[in-house]
Amino acid sequence: MPVAEFGLIERFFRGIGPALDSTVAGIGDDCAVLQPPEGQQLLLTTDTLVEKTHFLPGTDAESLGHKVLAVSLSDLAAMGATPRWAMLALSLPTVSESWLEAFSAGFSLLASRYEVQLVGGDTTRGPLSITVQGIGTSPAGRVLYRSNAKPGDGIYVTGFLGEAGLGLKGCLGKAECSFTMRQRLERPEPRVAVGKILCGLASACIDISDGFAADLGHILESSQVGATVDWNLLPLSAEVRGYLLRSGDVRLPLCAGDDYELCFTVPRERESDLKSRLRSLPCPVTRVGIIGELPGLRFENFNLDEPLSGYEHFS
Ligand code: ADP
Ligand code: MG
Repeated sequence: MPVAEFGLIERFFRGIGPALDSTVAGIGDDCAVLQPPEGQQLLLTTDTLVEKTHFLPGTDAESLGHKVLAVSLSDLAAMGATPRWAMLALSLPTVSESWLEAFSAGFSLLASRYEVQLVGGDTTRGPLSITVQGIGTSPAGRVLYRSNAKPGDGIYVTGFLGEAGLGLKGCLGKAECSFTMRQRLERPEPRVAVGKILCGLASACIDISDGFAADLGHILESSQVGATVDWNLLPLSAEVRGYLLRSGDVRLPLCAGDDYELCFTVPRERESDLKSRLRSLPCPVTRVGIIGELPGLRFENFNLDEPLSGYEHFS
């Protein structure tokens, strides 16, 4: 990397997030050196946002800075981890200081809120593409997997479904939507606090990135179970309900991606425990169905002619 660009790293990427005690060496050497707290396991996740595939050309840089980190924090949340570090690989067609400033501000604000330190990365010239690796920790044995849902467990989701999908339709000019829906697309809030509360309580958990039906489907496959979900129980905001009524596009809350809510299962005998633990949280949590033995996903109060699918890049 040319020396001039090293100034960019110093200016825009050094000092993002708190200086953690557990960071032995951050930005500036060939590798970051991290010291996970004793007895904790490391959880690592990587996500890439590519222009036109994951975001629309012209999306503001501050939102991109927020979103690319939020997506990684959401994966860590889904496994109940405490996010601690991030690595950032940027491919940029040109070096625009105003773009970098805004991007860095969006990234930095979220990193500070979740006490995540940016400890390294890579900066290259090329088509606009942003990759973040999120690194978190969990006490050994407290990690939430997808694979442990059992018949009889309740199925829950955080927040509301389909809002990011409606936001995307709004951005594409395919539907009317409020600023709030667009914010849900561009500035998702990772459910880190919920994930931590679920450790030792939920039997399985996943974050909803590709659509509720597809992501719950991953829990079902991993756990080798099935599920019945009641359409009438799905958490839908007034705005999404209004859109469904106007458009008849009932698949939106089931299939649209990018909500970054958590979907999880809880054994029946722990459900009252869940209620009391959730009281302190700002986001709603809704019970939408139940795990069963028969494989597959079934709906009550809902008829679909075609099978539901989530977002797949290579289909
Ligand atoms: P190397 O060539 O040894 O891989 P670089 O010259 O690419 O190192 O990067 C120098 C330092 O700056 C490294 O510590 C690297 O992790 C960090 N760095 C590079 N780009 C970024 C970025 N976009 N965000 C955060 N840190 C970065
Ligand atoms: Mg090197």
